[in-house]
Amino acid sequence: MLQNSKQSKNFSERRAFMQGGAMLLLGAGANWSASSKLWADEGTERSSVRVGMATDLHYADKAPAGSRHYRESLAKLAEATNYFQQTKPAFIVELGDFIDAAESVATEQSYLKTVSRAFAAAPGEKHYVLGNHCVYTLTKEEFLGGVGREKSYYAFDQGGLHFIILDSCFRSDGAPYGRKNFQWTDPNIPAAELDWLQSDLQANNRPTVVFAHQRLDVSNHYGVKNAADVRRVLEASGQVSAVFQGHSHQNDYREINGVHYCTLAAMVEGSGLENNAYTLMDVFRDGSLRLAGNRKQKSYHWK
Ligand SMILES: [Zn+2]
Repeated sequence: MLQNSKQSKNFSERRAFMQGGAMLLLGAGANWSASSKLWADEGTERSSVRVGMATDLHYADKAPAGSRHYRESLAKLAEATNYFQQTKPAFIVELGDFIDAAESVATEQSYLKTVSRAFAAAPGEKHYVLGNHCVYTLTKEEFLGGVGREKSYYAFDQGGLHFIILDSCFRSDGAPYGRKNFQWTDPNIPAAELDWLQSDLQANNRPTVVFAHQRLDVSNHYGVKNAADVRRVLEASGQVSAVFQGHSHQNDYREINGVHYCTLAAMVEGSGLENNAYTLMDVFRDGSLRLAGNRKQKSYHWK
């Protein structure tokens, strides 16, 4: 249980951070310059921390299937990288499904190498949320080794905020996903990770933003099976402002008990750069949070 003093402190901080809870939806196609002009008028131009985000690249050197254009993710990533070079986020989060399935481990590793090399051109540190496709052919160790990471879930601080990367690629029986050993509709956050999450939130009182692949705001087949338990931990901390997620490939947003759950559009969907999707998040000194979406990614502003 949380101690009372921490709870009340967090509560007041959270109120300041999320004041109003209002959301401004600009709609798809709103570009960076238009968005920044709009918000500059509100006097929120001084960003405390700036974060780049992209999700569901599904890069693979294979023919398109349905609406998924696997090879084109490289050109789309190059556009996003160029944008991040100009806008200079402190770090970039790739929200999962960085690669798509290959017939062999060696081929999958070559896909990962190709897309990682392209992503390396973007500025700042890179963080990777594990997606089910990341660990369909590969094991978690192989994927993380390929992107130079050790842990699949962890937390870090930047610009006065706390950031958490979650890993929901575990089966109901607690076994980690890897090498085609799972059903994609069975994502879970096991007890050990949930305990870690609770301890991590108790150990600090900074406004917190969470990154996940599978969704924590729905109970359908896109949702983490024990999402309600995870939400309870996030809500009890009183300090989590927003959760960003991927997995279902379409823009979506809902607010549950004061936490913003924002699902980002997938980069792999649709042919041509006009179907690209990537975004920049600014957290401002007044506590407001802005998402400047590009191409098919929607923009938001939460006071
Ligand atoms: Zn995906």
